[in-house]
Amino acid sequence: MSKKLVLASNNAKKAAEMQTLLAPLGLEIVPQARLGVDEAEEPHFTFIENALAKARHAAAATKLPAIADDSGLCVAALGGAPGVHSARFAGEPKSDERNNLFLLEKLADTPSSERNAWYYCCLALVRRADDPCPLIADGEWRGVILTVPRGNGGFGYDPLFWLPERQLSAAELEPAQKNALSHRGIAMRQLLERLRNRSL
Ligand code: IMP
Repeated sequence: MSKKLVLASNNAKKAAEMQTLLAPLGLEIVPQARLGVDEAEEPHFTFIENALAKARHAAAATKLPAIADDSGLCVAALGGAPGVHSARFAGEPKSDERNNLFLLEKLADTPSSERNAWYYCCLALVRRADDPCPLIADGEWRGVILTVPRGNGGFGYDPLFWLPERQLSAAELEPAQKNALSHRGIAMRQLLERLRNRSL
C-alpha cells in the first residue's frame, strides 16, 4: 500500500491542481476533508507562516504527513494587496466573483501600464505536526490585471490575470499549461526536487 500524504486545502480547484502536480511522487494524496479535517486558521501576515500553520493543523489532526499551499495575488498598484488576504478580499463569505469585481473597482482609475501583478505560492510539507525541519518551496508568476474578465478555466483571479507573452488570461490556459507556468507549478517542482534527497 502506498504512503499517504494529506492535502491541507478545502479549495477544490486548488487541490485539483496540487493533486496533478504531486502525481510524480506516487503517493496516495488524501484531501483533508475526506479525513474530517476542518479548515485551519490563517492568522499570519506572511504566506510561509500560513502555509506552515495549515500543514501542521492537518498533520496534527490526522497523524500523517501533510502538505499545504498558501497563495495569493499581489498587485503592485495596491502595494502588494490583496496578498495573504486574496481569498477574502471582498469580505465574507469568500467568493471569487465578488473578489474579482472588487479588484476591478479598486483599479478602475489605474492605467494598463500600471496594472502589473504577480501570483505568489508558498508550499509547506511536514512529516508530523512537530516536524522541526519542514520542507518549504515557493514560486512567483507575473502578469497584468485586465479591465474585463476573460476565460472560464482555473479559479480565483485567473480571468483577470493577463499573460502578455501568451496573449491569454490564466483562465484561458489548459490545466496542463497553467501548471507548467504557474506560481504553484514552480513551487511544486522545487519541492519535489528537495524531496528527492529526503524521505517522508
Ligand atoms: P488560500 O487558500 O488561503 O491560500 O487563498 C488563496 C487565494 O489566492 C485564492 O482563493 C485565490 O483568490 C488566490 N489565488 C491563489 N492561487 C491562485 C491561482 O492559481 N489562480 C487564481 N487565484 C489564485
